[in-house]
Parts: sequence; C-alpha cells; structure tokens
Amino acid sequence: MFAKTGFKIDMENSSNELQYRIIEGTREVFSEPERTHLGHNSKKTSPPTSPQGLNLYAEIITGSNKWIERACELAAESAKTGGGPFGAIVLQIDSETSQILRLWEAWNSVTCNNDPTAHAEINAIRAACASLRVYNLGKIPKSLAALNQPGEWSHCIILSSCEPCPMCYSAIAWARIPELYFAATRFDAAQPGVGFSDEAIYDDLRKPYSKRLIKVYKCNAPNSLNAFQVWKQIDKQMY
Ligand SMILES: [Zn+2]
Repeated sequence: MFAKTGFKIDMENSSNELQYRIIEGTREVFSEPERTHLGHNSKKTSPPTSPQGLNLYAEIITGSNKWIERACELAAESAKTGGGPFGAIVLQIDSETSQILRLWEAWNSVTCNNDPTAHAEINAIRAACASLRVYNLGKIPKSLAALNQPGEWSHCIILSSCEPCPMCYSAIAWARIPELYFAATRFDAAQPGVGFSDEAIYDDLRKPYSKRLIKVYKCNAPNSLNAFQVWKQIDKQMY
C-alpha cells in the first residue's frame, strides 16, 4: 500500500513489542529547513516559549519541513492512542546525493510497553539499527547494511517532536547520528498540564555524586579492571 506521503509502507508493526514503522523511500531529497532568525519568524515557526529558551536556542532556530511536522503528527497520534506525546523519525539518507532512502517512524511507548527507556527517539534508533543491522548510523557502508542502498555510503539523521531528554541525546550521540532537529522545547514539555520535566536530570548531572537524587556508591571491587585488561588484549572491533 502507498501512504499519502508517496512512500510505500513495507512493514507496519503497531503491537506492544515494537513501536515503529519502516517506510521505504522514493526519490525525494532531504533539504534542511530554511533558516529563520529571531524577530523574523515566519508564520510556520513558533518561537521558544521561555526566557531560558531564548538564550539556549538563539543560534539554532530554523524553519519547518514535512519531516519534523510528521514527527509532531506522530506525537499527537501517540497521545491519542495511549502513548506518550512524543514522536521521532530517523531518515536514512544517501551521503552523496541527499536522497532519502527510507525512514523509521516511532513514538513514545513507555506506558504501553512498561519500558521507561522506550522514548520515541530510542525506539526510532533501535528500529533503524535493527533493520540495517548496524550500530553506527553516522556512516553506513553499502557492504555492511542489511537493506539496499544505491551509493557506497549513507547516514541517518533524526527528527524529534520535542527536544530530546539527556538519555535520548546520549543515545543519538552513541548512534553517531550527526544531525538532530526538534520542534517543541523541553520548556514546552514542562508546562503545567503537560508535566514532562528534564530539569531535575540536567541539574543532577551538574552536581557531585554525593549531592545527587540517586544514592550513588563507587565500590572498590577487586576485579573491577579485569574486563578492561581482557579488552586491551583481544582482537576487537572498536565502536
Ligand atoms: Zn528521551
């Protein structure tokens, strides 16, 4: 079947186990949203809704495109169907031509899956890595990827309906994804009645361990360095 976007839906899985869809691409080329500046926002762009945001996002405000708007649609669909109000899309792009090869649409399934790590971005990254059978989404060689790609190299970018939390930002970094686009800010998510605040985590990470929310202990285990000794000596694949 063909969706309205002109993409062929290869596989759809809306069970409680996997919360994503993979959609095979057409010849569309990814282009960055048009740059906008504070004070000159187009009608399509909503400015940050907090004083903190004005400083935090001043250098990165940009316009909109269908992909980020699709991530926001997924977030709303998720909220209507029992998931958290967050959506994300991973786009696989041919590194030479910028042609979109395929995409993974995902949404927050924390409560549906009883998985506190099942944020939209994590679900999208897991889906992309599992489909492609790679752990590095930043540089995907034709020889390694489990799915077809026309060029020698491709890479993935991620678009999220909302500014990623520290866990998801870290996952994006570990997946070596070189570009992140988000729509709503963490201050929007923390508004009364919405109630998702990452501030406690951001604050906690700045504190010494002894002052953190979680009781943390560094143990003097006698075998703590054994794994690293083994790692140094074996033939390994660095990642
Ligand atoms: Zn997250």
